[in-house]
Amino acid sequence: MTIPYGRQDVTDGDVAAVVDVLRSDWLTQGPVVPRFEQAIAAHCKASQAVAVSNATVALHIACRALGLGPGDWLWTTPNTFVASANCALYCGAQVDFVDVDPRSYNMDAGQLEHKLLEAQRLGRLPKIVVPVHFAGQSCDMRAIRALADRFGFRIIEDASHAIGGSYLDAPVGSCAYSDITVFSFHPVKIITTAEGGMALTNDDALAQRMRLLRSHGITRDAADMDGPSEGAWYYQQVELGYNYRLTELQAALGLSQFDRLADYVQRRHAIAAAYDRALADLPLVTPWQHPDSRSALHLYPIQVEDGASGPRRKAVFDGLRSAGIGVNVHYIPVHTQPYFRRMGFKPGDFPQAERYYARAISLPMYATLTEDDQQAVVRTLRGLLA
Ligand SMILES: *Cc1c(COP(=O)(O)O)cnc(C)c1O
Repeated sequence: MTIPYGRQDVTDGDVAAVVDVLRSDWLTQGPVVPRFEQAIAAHCKASQAVAVSNATVALHIACRALGLGPGDWLWTTPNTFVASANCALYCGAQVDFVDVDPRSYNMDAGQLEHKLLEAQRLGRLPKIVVPVHFAGQSCDMRAIRALADRFGFRIIEDASHAIGGSYLDAPVGSCAYSDITVFSFHPVKIITTAEGGMALTNDDALAQRMRLLRSHGITRDAADMDGPSEGAWYYQQVELGYNYRLTELQAALGLSQFDRLADYVQRRHAIAAAYDRALADLPLVTPWQHPDSRSALHLYPIQVEDGASGPRRKAVFDGLRSAGIGVNVHYIPVHTQPYFRRMGFKPGDFPQAERYYARAISLPMYATLTEDDQQAVVRTLRGLLA
């Protein structure tokens, strides 16, 4: 593939930062992880940040910290990566979905309200709702927060696509409308630590619980122990936790990348604006930007409109791939995956997400995409739709 759909940008400065850590005293559990956490928390205007091995485990410990367990429900969107739903299943809870808004492809707050009213009648309200900021654009968090206050659920924002974006006046990650916000630092995301993730919160008790769960449920703090400490060597396991830590090498890479976050998002906006202009006359739906949100533009998803002879997403996708353009599709609706079908979900359950999926293609979108490469994408797409 000559042009991928997404890729990382690693500079000499990033390499030097990682090498410095390799030559230092700590490869893990040293000073760089807390520095990375503090930098992200400060940028997002959240009081606490907990760095972990990836966003999937961040979602897991976020659910555990909020007490999700057997008998509970977690709701998310079908238009997401499977991890947004699997976090419920790891906790022994059940998962359900809320269909998407046809313009933003984000969880539809109106449909959420409708489903909550029905769940209230049935006595199975969700304990947690996980809105996913699809493609980097924030969900309608004001509306979702109002529903949380009315129906009594907690909110975890899956902001895996959205670091560097903002909603109303606050950066995504501020947790102004949620209990916890999760970021991913996978190489295709906005900034990377190779594998990596982070959970942000303004609730000190939640942060403390997530730190405990990140590292085996073990504490060295006498205040958290059952009975007195037996000495300086002493620790206690007080919860069933995991080893979900981020390494110092990864944190050094992330901290170095973080310096360029604003530039990256700005560059993504320039690329999106160029696509918007170049594709305006084609039979495509380009991404709609909600006025309340400034997207981080992780993805640039288009919808290929049906032609006279029927759907043509597949032909356009295959044509782009054959031309060496690494397009992708985000997302296969989670409820249609075989594992979820075995729980009783079926095609037709969430028609907006399915309708969007049937037409979607994610075009190449990353900060180092060159103008020439972008023009090649546009030219190829034009040729295929002619
Ligand atoms: C990438 C992604 C995840 C998982 O992130 P990892 O860091 O790879 O575990 C979760 N949710 C969404 C929406 C994602 O895009």
